[in-house]
Amino acid sequence: MTDKKTIGIPRAISYYNYFPFWYGFFSNLEIDIILSDPTTKKTVSDGASLVVTETCLPIKVYVGHVINLIEKGVKNIFVPSIQSIAPKIYNCSKIRGLPDLIRNVVRGDFKIIEATLDRSEKNNDLIDFVTEIANQFDIVDTNKIKQAQTAGFVVQNNFNVMVQNGLDFENALKYAKNAQVIIPPKQEEKPISVALIGHGYNIYDKHASMDIFKKLDKMDVRVYNSYQLTPEQLKGGMASLNSTLYWANQHEVTGCAGHYFQDDKIDGIITITAFGCGPDSLMLEDIKRKSKNFNKPILNLTIDEHTGEAGFITRIEAFCDMLYRNKRVKLLKQKNTVDKFITGV
Ligand code: SF4
Repeated sequence: MTDKKTIGIPRAISYYNYFPFWYGFFSNLEIDIILSDPTTKKTVSDGASLVVTETCLPIKVYVGHVINLIEKGVKNIFVPSIQSIAPKIYNCSKIRGLPDLIRNVVRGDFKIIEATLDRSEKNNDLIDFVTEIANQFDIVDTNKIKQAQTAGFVVQNNFNVMVQNGLDFENALKYAKNAQVIIPPKQEEKPISVALIGHGYNIYDKHASMDIFKKLDKMDVRVYNSYQLTPEQLKGGMASLNSTLYWANQHEVTGCAGHYFQDDKIDGIITITAFGCGPDSLMLEDIKRKSKNFNKPILNLTIDEHTGEAGFITRIEAFCDMLYRNKRVKLLKQKNTVDKFITGV
């Protein structure tokens, strides 16, 4: 029998961008949400065992999360196909084809709750998308669905405001789910600051990113990322690099880099990309070529299921040491200039 009032959501891919919306939406419709557990080694190996080797890590992780939900006994699993988020702005083929992928590789007693969002197609608006989802739970009342959509936007907006003001992902999510907006006190400056650039599923999944936020914090490095920027700032970043928008998640990579290239408080840029990702390699190439105009050092970290933690830490440490040295030289030069100004020598 289908469990009508429960939905399982994989803690992967679009979870890191849109889960607050889905939390507000499904809760308003009185549908209980079951999340898959945080990513572990087992999640990755379960997912990797079902897809071809060349598949990128985030998709292997996604498949692993679906398996985790099945193991928890969840019968309805949410696997939307998000083709295009605005006219002529597309997701990569793997994200677009997620329902087909899951249907073909994962066996088990579950139903895929799927719907397609393709805003490049005429008349495919968000309300059509969410209606298609609600209908699968026999909810057909248009007003009720519209109300749930509004509730989703409220939670998402609250979450966005908090992360833009520097609250970490997990706390912002916790408060947004409780209908709270907590603005954290201004964080202390640290000796150096980096912009961490990558998709939400690559930087916020602690297993995939090897908890890079914590590692940088231990090195006394302040971290900025795309979540702290408004849509206007990300668009401005794209424009400053003269980059053409094509990919749905290009703002969080190219737009973010373009913004922080021009930000004086940023000493260096760290990008995290998945091995084998076509869109990321194109975006990274674009960023690297244009970075020469901005004089900011860049470190690119590529992740896959074989990435070793020791090598990962060594590269981050070496990069941060170089940033510390650059900073000392810069401060010394500034001091000499001030001394010369005071003494006139
Ligand atoms: S954008 Fe790249 S990393 Fe993300 S799912 Fe597509 S291929 Fe994988």
